[in-house]
Amino acid sequence: MDLKQHIRTVPDFPKPGIEFYDISTLLAHPRAWRACVRRLADAVDDMQPDVLVGIESRGFLTAAPLALELGLGFVMVRKKGKLPGEVVHYEYGLEYGTDTIEIQKDAIESGQRIVILDDLLATGGTLAASAALCKQMGGDVRGAVCIIELTDLKGRDKINIPFTSLLKYE
Ligand code: IMP
Repeated sequence: MDLKQHIRTVPDFPKPGIEFYDISTLLAHPRAWRACVRRLADAVDDMQPDVLVGIESRGFLTAAPLALELGLGFVMVRKKGKLPGEVVHYEYGLEYGTDTIEIQKDAIESGQRIVILDDLLATGGTLAASAALCKQMGGDVRGAVCIIELTDLKGRDKINIPFTSLLKYE
C-alpha cells in the first residue's frame, strides 16, 4: 500500500509559501489508515515502551489507535490551559515568541519507558519540547515516531532521541 498517495498537500496553508501535508485523506480511507497504524505499531513496538505520549492534536489521532493495538496506556501533551488538575509545563522558543505545553502531573511515573507520537516532524521544536517535558517528569524517553518527516528541515538532528518516520518528503 502506497501511503503517500493518501496524503493531500495543500499549498499556502496556514500561510502563503507553506505547503501543508494533510493526513485527513489518510484518516478517511480505512484500509490505508489500517496499513499506516500497523506500520506505526511495528516501529513503536521496536522501542519497547510502557506508555505512549501523543502531541496535540494530530498526535492524539496517531497515538490512540496504537495504544489499543499494542495494549498500552496513552497520555496527552496539550497546549497550555487545556488539561484539568495539576499539570507540569514546559516553555519553548518559536521563530517569534514562545509556546507552552503541559502534561498532567500524575500521567507519567519515574522510569516509565515512553514513545512520543505526532503526525509530522518539521523543525523538531514541538517534539524536542515534548521529549524534554517527559524527561523532566522522570520518564525514560525511548524515542519518537511520526507518520511524516520533512527531511530538509533536519528536525531529526534537533530532537536527539531515536526517531522513525514512515513517509519522507524533502
Ligand atoms: P515542528 O515543531 O516544526 O517540528 O512542527 C511539527 C508540528 O507542527 C506538529 O505538531 C505538526 O502536527 C505540525 N505541522 C507542521 N507542519 C505541518 C504540516 O505540513 N502538516 C501537518 N502538521 C504540520
